[in-house]
This record gives sequence, structure tokens and C-alpha cells, in this order.
Amino acid sequence: MSKVESTPEMASAMYSKMDERLKIIRKRLNKPLTLADKILYGHVDDPEGQPLEPGKSQLFLRPDRVVLQDVLGQSAFLQFMQTRRSAVAVPTSVHCDHLIQARVGATSDLKESIAENGEIYDFLKSAAAKFGAGFWGPGAGIIHQVVIEQYAFPAHMIIGTDSHTPNAGGAGACAVGVGGADAVETMAGLPWELLNPKRIAVYLTGKLKGWTAPKDVILWVAGQLTVSGGTNSIIEYIGPGARTISATGKATIANMGAEVGATTSLFPYDEHMAMYLHATNRGALVPIVEANRHLLAPDAEVEAAPEKFYERVLKLDLSTLEPHIVGPHSPDRARPLSKLKAEIADAKNGFPETVSAVLIGSCTNSSYEDMSRAADVAAQAAAHGLKPAASLMVTPGSEQVRATIERDGQMAALKNAGATVLANACGPCIGQWRRTEPAADKPNAIVTSYNRNFPGRNDERTHTMNFIASPEIAVAMALAGRLGFDPQTDTLTGADGKPFKLNAPGVAPEVPAKGFTPGSPAYVAPPADGSSIKIEIPPTSERLQAIEPWAEWNGLDIGNAPVLMKTKGKTTTDDISPAGSWLRFRGHLGRFSDNLLLTAVNAYTGNHGLRAQQDLDLQFAMLSTELAGLKQQRAEWQHRVKLLKSESIDPDMLDERARLVLNYLDPRDLTLMLKQP
Ligand code: SF4
Repeated sequence: MSKVESTPEMASAMYSKMDERLKIIRKRLNKPLTLADKILYGHVDDPEGQPLEPGKSQLFLRPDRVVLQDVLGQSAFLQFMQTRRSAVAVPTSVHCDHLIQARVGATSDLKESIAENGEIYDFLKSAAAKFGAGFWGPGAGIIHQVVIEQYAFPAHMIIGTDSHTPNAGGAGACAVGVGGADAVETMAGLPWELLNPKRIAVYLTGKLKGWTAPKDVILWVAGQLTVSGGTNSIIEYIGPGARTISATGKATIANMGAEVGATTSLFPYDEHMAMYLHATNRGALVPIVEANRHLLAPDAEVEAAPEKFYERVLKLDLSTLEPHIVGPHSPDRARPLSKLKAEIADAKNGFPETVSAVLIGSCTNSSYEDMSRAADVAAQAAAHGLKPAASLMVTPGSEQVRATIERDGQMAALKNAGATVLANACGPCIGQWRRTEPAADKPNAIVTSYNRNFPGRNDERTHTMNFIASPEIAVAMALAGRLGFDPQTDTLTGADGKPFKLNAPGVAPEVPAKGFTPGSPAYVAPPADGSSIKIEIPPTSERLQAIEPWAEWNGLDIGNAPVLMKTKGKTTTDDISPAGSWLRFRGHLGRFSDNLLLTAVNAYTGNHGLRAQQDLDLQFAMLSTELAGLKQQRAEWQHRVKLLKSESIDPDMLDERARLVLNYLDPRDLTLMLKQP
């Protein structure tokens, strides 16, 4: 059984294997290498025979680690049970974060969620123990924050069953969000298949200052690339400016690379990463990382002339970057904050003037640095006796962050300003928000420091408009309660009736001077031998269902297949498999299969949800019901789900969720045809 932790021995072995493979690759390519070349090709299964054409070749890779969240982790373990293997082949961990609902505050929300999801947590805990995986229980934190704190290090290849796995890029890892099937194959010891991504560089110069934060870098990039501009590409942040950003600031940027469709985002190793490894009690890795610097940055020739080595190069001077805000409804609707007022004044945009709620934190922006800058703004307002005009909620990314900011005073500053602290979990970021205020029932604006803002994402109300900004800008907007508020130019009114202007938050420490305190981390390491552990799946459960082996292919190709679905416009993960209230059924394939493509726009009808072509005369919105109808109509029947001409599509998620559901519904005759834009 492999160890779950990232040990110095593991790091040494990984770097020496990379060296070995890259010797062969360098001979084959005979050119300077980008950072993506080094990490990807340093992990290929067959360096001699592997085709290497970016954008064309399928790479067969050997990831170093698999991470699972608690929703897709259920189906991953249910599928892993089918492999009949006794233990995972690579270090694996599962993280209980998505199922915790935000209601009134951390303590009671966590207690109620544990009671409601007990059978899921028991299942994940027993499966992790049986198969040798680490179990991070409810309250331990959000998967990506825990992974960067505990496991990620430079050039570490991580795959995770969540779109924002690239967050670990802040610590130099090459971390990719995948479907559960990919994760299971890797856990079972098979190579992981990935279309060799194209290479994009963002060349950074200068240094962030004033109100501008790392968040603004990725919001600017989202505006440049749009939601599909990074599809099948790796984004490398290079140039001297990249080396001025903290590890957790890099994580925010890498995290939101998912919003432009990027496979992942990479940063060269630097002293900020070393500082972060030390602060998170992994200083023993640093000398090994230092000794392998040649593997952890692009070759000098590449950085000197990036246009020769990358398909596209964006250039950004951080010193001139303004704070940005994106939204609503799409992360690429970006503009400098100073331009938002004019858009609000233009009635055709329909933007509300007031802000109904502000939410900061999540896996994207809850670092020590973020919380320190947000607390700085809150403390300035408190000194003037001003409370936020909009409700303010804080989601710490992990128990370690929560306990540390509690110890060091940032939490007190935010609470003094009237903030509600939510559980260390996804909560409102994934639709787990039991929102009760009346403002939510009509079109309203919220400001978050999260990453996604598609309609319905946060509170399951499509009329809620989510604008995304840095935590410090979000807090300033909560204080003002006005969407058009710009702290760079506008004033607030203190309790004494006098106007005052917020100062830009001071430079915050990247890591705590006293180091992090772990708090009560809710981690369970696997036993040395899990063979006697029985995995319980109650037969009457509506949340869990064991997967039976599917029948073998009957050897016949599909022909004359009606097309049940052609999606139109953007087809995101949330359209393919809506989250929110559906998350509760993720371990029960029968129940969960009803949500496939439920919110995607069907090109045949113009409506949301799956409807068949007219000739099939089907009346029902639910996939399983329609398929049952199809079966009755035809003794011999076949169909395909065909996804074409989508502006933005998430093929990994399609592959995982759609294939699993379709296979479940009829393993003999179903084919899922995927075509990317
Ligand atoms: S906080 Fe949001 S983006 Fe992060 S893992 Fe949870 S749901 Fe995904």
C-alpha cells in the first residue's frame, strides 16, 4: 500500500524518474522545453514510444496522486470496488466538503450536515480505510485548500475529481480536474490518458500594488481568453512578475484557470513556494525541490523568447493592472472595477444597484494573505463604527486556515464587522446555500470571491447575479451595499455621519509568522491492512447503490440511431449534471441518472432539458423516463446522445457523468458521442 503523505522519499523518487524520462524526451525533441513539457513528459508511461504532438497526441501518463471530493468520491469508490483490487495503486485521499449546506453558521450547519449525510460519510470512511486512502472528514476543509496545504509540491502530478483541482498549481504542482472514471483507472494502476494540451503563456512583469490582488490577474486573463479560450491548453505563468506572487496567490490564479477551460495552470518554482512548504510543515521537501530546480521552470531559452515556444502569449504588467470584477453569469464578462458604474447606469444591462449578499473565502480565496487583507478592510470600517450594509459571509478553506486566522485576529476583525462564519466547506459556492432573505426572491446582485458564476450556481435561483472580485473588494462592497462602489475613489459614511475613504489594504503576510496551527483537522489515516473492513451499503438506501458489473458489448455496432440531444450554446458541467439538491443522490446512480443534461439547452426544442426529436413523440423531461419509453416503443432500439457545436464544454465531466449514467441506463446499446467545439 502506498503512503498517503508526500514524503521526501516520494519526492526524490518522482524527480529521479522525471530526469530519466526527460533524458529520452530531450533526445527525441532536440529543443528547449517549456515547464509543461518537463512535467507532462516527465510523467509519460513510455518516453520512447509516446507520440508528443500538442493538441493531437493522447498522452499516457503516470500521475503521482489522486484526490476525490465527497460527491464524485462516492461513485469513484463504487467503481473502484468493481476492480476487485485490495488497495489503491497511488496515494489517494477523499475530502468531505461538497455536501455541507450553509444555513446559519459553521457550528450548527456542520452538526446538521453530519446528521443528514452520515451514511455517505460512513461509506467514504470505510472505503478509504479498506483501500488505503486518507479520509478528510466533514469540517476538515475544502479539497483544494487541504491538498495544497498537505500534499502538493512542485511538479507533483495530481488528478482530482473536481474542476478546480488546478488550485494546487500554487505550490508548483501540475494538477488536473478529471472525471471519476479517470481517477478510478489511475487508482487501479492504469496509466491516465490526456490529450496533449496546447501551450499558452502569460508573461508577467511588474508587481501588484494597492487594491490589486492575484485574483485580478485571473479575472483579466478570463476576459482575454473567454470561457473557451484555454480549452485543451496548459497555461504557464512565466516572466519576472510570476515570481512576485505568493504561493496562495498563484493558487487563486491556477484555480480559476478552469474558468477559461484550461487543462491546468503552472508556475515555475520560486521562494514563495519554498516559504509555503516550510509554513505548512513540509520543510523537509525543500532541499529536494531545490536540488531539482532544473525540472521546475521552463528552459532559459523559452522564457527569453516565449513566442517561439507557446501557441499564444499574453503579456501583462502587474504594476498597471486595476482591480477587476467579472459577471454576472459568466466569468469572462470582465472589466476593471472603475468601469462597472457606467454599466450599472445603462438600464439595458439590468444590473441591480444594491448588493444583497457578499461571500468571501472558498477554495479559491481563503488564504492567510486573503483573509488578512479582507480583515484589514473590515477593521478600517469598524474603526469608523460602520457595519456592512449587505450580509457578509466567510467560508474558510480549511480547518487549518480557520484555526490560524482565529488565533491571529483576522477572524475577530471580520466577525466584528458583522460577518457570519460558515463551515470549512463548499456551501454557497456549489449551491448548498439555504438562502432565506427576501431579496433572493427577485433579481439581485451578490458579490463573491468564488470562481464560478453561472446562473443558479450559488443559490439555485437563476435570477441571482454573481459578480466575482477579490476578497478585499468584496468586503468593501459589503460595507457600501452598492454594486457601483469603488473603494479607490468613493467614500463611505461613518457612524458619526462623516465621510471617510478606505485605504488599500496593507501588504499582508503570505504565511503566518508563527506558522499555521492545525486546529481539529478531522483526518483519518488508513490502517496498515484494511482487508477485514466491510463496506456497508444499506440495501434500502436512496443515497448509495452498489454498481453491478455491466454486460459485455454484444459485438454489434450502433446504426440508424436517433439523436436525442443536441446542446446549444454553453454546455458546462452544471448543465451536464446540475449540482445543488442533486448532489445528495451522487452515490445512487439510479436516482442521479435523472439529472443528465437537465439544464442544457436542447437545440431541437430551444428548451432546457432533454427532449427527444419530434419523431420519437416523447413527452418527458427526465432521461430515464424517456429511455424507458423508447424501450417500450422499439424491441430493438438504440440511441446516441450527441453534443455538438457547444461554445464551452467540459469533456472530462461529460465523459464521467454522462457515460456512467448512460451505461447504467442500458449497458448494451448506448453510445455517447462527444464532439468538442
Ligand atoms: S469551494 Fe466551490 S469551487 Fe471549490 S471545490 Fe467547493 S464547489 Fe468547487
